[in-house]
Amino acid sequence: MGKIQVLSENIIHKIAAGEVIERPSSVVKELVENSIDAQAKRVSVEVKAGGRQDIIVADDGIGMSFDDALLSVKRHSTSKMKSPSDLFSVSTLGFRGEALASIGAVSRMTIETRSAEDNEGTRIVVEGGIEREKGSVARAVGTTISVRNIFFNTPARRKFLRHMETENRYITQNLVQLSAAHPDVGFELIHQDRNILDFLPGSRFERARELLESEPDSLLETSLADEGIEVDAFVSVPAQCRRSRGKQFVVVRGRPIFSRGLNQAVYNGYGGLLVDRHPSFIVWLDLDPRKIDVNVHPTKREVRFADERRVAGVIQAAVRQALDMPEMEVFNYTKSSEKETTLKFSDGANENKPQSRTYSSEANALEFNLSDGSVDHSQLSLSLLAPSVPGGEKVPGESPVSDSLGKEILGDIETSPAIWQVHNKYIIVPIKEGIIIVDQHVAHERIRYEEALDNFEAEGVGVQQLLLPLTLNLNPVEMEVVREASDLFSQLGFNVREFGPATVIVESIPVELKNWGEGEIFHKMVNELLEEKEIRNTLQEAVAASYACHTSIRAGENLKRDDMQVLIKRLLGAREPFVCPHGRPIIVKIP
Ligand code: ADP
Ligand code: MG
Repeated sequence: MGKIQVLSENIIHKIAAGEVIERPSSVVKELVENSIDAQAKRVSVEVKAGGRQDIIVADDGIGMSFDDALLSVKRHSTSKMKSPSDLFSVSTLGFRGEALASIGAVSRMTIETRSAEDNEGTRIVVEGGIEREKGSVARAVGTTISVRNIFFNTPARRKFLRHMETENRYITQNLVQLSAAHPDVGFELIHQDRNILDFLPGSRFERARELLESEPDSLLETSLADEGIEVDAFVSVPAQCRRSRGKQFVVVRGRPIFSRGLNQAVYNGYGGLLVDRHPSFIVWLDLDPRKIDVNVHPTKREVRFADERRVAGVIQAAVRQALDMPEMEVFNYTKSSEKETTLKFSDGANENKPQSRTYSSEANALEFNLSDGSVDHSQLSLSLLAPSVPGGEKVPGESPVSDSLGKEILGDIETSPAIWQVHNKYIIVPIKEGIIIVDQHVAHERIRYEEALDNFEAEGVGVQQLLLPLTLNLNPVEMEVVREASDLFSQLGFNVREFGPATVIVESIPVELKNWGEGEIFHKMVNELLEEKEIRNTLQEAVAASYACHTSIRAGENLKRDDMQVLIKRLLGAREPFVCPHGRPIIVKIP
């Protein structure tokens, strides 16, 4: 007998199910999309244990008849595709007819539904792909689908589920995205009997206000239609743009998507107004469905455009119009010389090189080396004391080269007390072999970062109780991350207590913190943390990096001589004094 066998139906189902349903948040996404497609005005999602135990999605949509309900759980059964040409003009979120079959294949799924034409509803139970029950039930028009014990029959996948709070964060993010796409639908999310999100159906403006949490008058509305591309958007006024990534949503015909190119188009619209800051925005796009391909990946938020450049161009123009800026030219905000960076507006959308985030080490090295562009830096033979250690690879921990250099410099500083600050930004110290230039912000960031990591190991750190505890309103995604990280926060000195569904109270802060402001620092840290989590290996590192970023000395701060000396000494005592937590060089040495 040969070795090749045809897979059993059952295995084929499980494999297909695995593609659509990766984790509880995929179930929530599919079910809520179905509710939206069924014209629901209210969708409520209730999850237990991050969705591992229970996911219940209830809607007041059109419901299903008995026959339709039975069909809905079969593979490739859909009411949304009547003819092949529909594939090219999909106006619903679903169309593959896979979701319910897939969910039923990997869980115990109960559907209760009733359409307006029927007097009684239908109840169907499917478990591991097998129909367990079908019958009738009394209920209102609409559909409730509950999913229990997800992945009970695919233990490998079940094992891969993350911590409850993490799964719940994915769920929240999915729901927030869908709520940006459908302001006219109300959404509610309840986790472990706690109300995490509650949006009433409303206008685009109302939803934008909720999601971008803006102050009154801090959102600009704009609409523009050009060559069949319609853009409606709310963007934050430049003064409200933050150092940490804002809330950013792009929606194409009811579908939340992620597109680097289109996000960048919004940034480009701000032109030179943003310098190192991030806008919050929601952009709703409408265009001929034949010009987009939503069939790229069953679950990813990806869409292909026939002409993304043109779409980006209209978005950029719409943003520009909102800011009420001159129409003709876009200046790249690196601002080296105006002549060079003037781009024709009409084709500026993608020519304009993406503006790097603050943390590009390349950009920083340049800033360091070529302060005004007029020096030939190759002749100065600047040595960047950054990740370049023998072999060129960045090695974790201490490197012997850096270490001995650090000691040497430290020795030099002891003997020569001269030290200068330039542009309130760099510290210049003479050493035996020449001078070193230290970027005060990234230097302090490195110190703080290591301090934080040490505090996680330490037994209790110094805290200052706030006389007036600070009350902060957070959005659902922020709430989740604060919950997840609250132990680490308290190890740093931030004692944070939940107070209602969208509010936390900060009762104490680390002793070292002086300029605590109105608590803005904590809010910024939380936002930074959302980003850091994506790129750091551990939650510890992510919290440490966010803490370091927002509690360190900034560029522009005038430092006293003693402060500078302390800073340099502490820096040289750090485990990795030459590169900041984001990989930027801290010290430049000029022999
Ligand atoms: P798709 O959404 O791609 O059509 P699904 O497997 O998600 O496939 O759903 C199959 C069908 O079940 C849908 O086409 C729709 O007719 C019906 N359906 C699913 N969920 C609902 C709901 N909440 N309300 C009404 N009908 C639903
Ligand atoms: Mg669907």
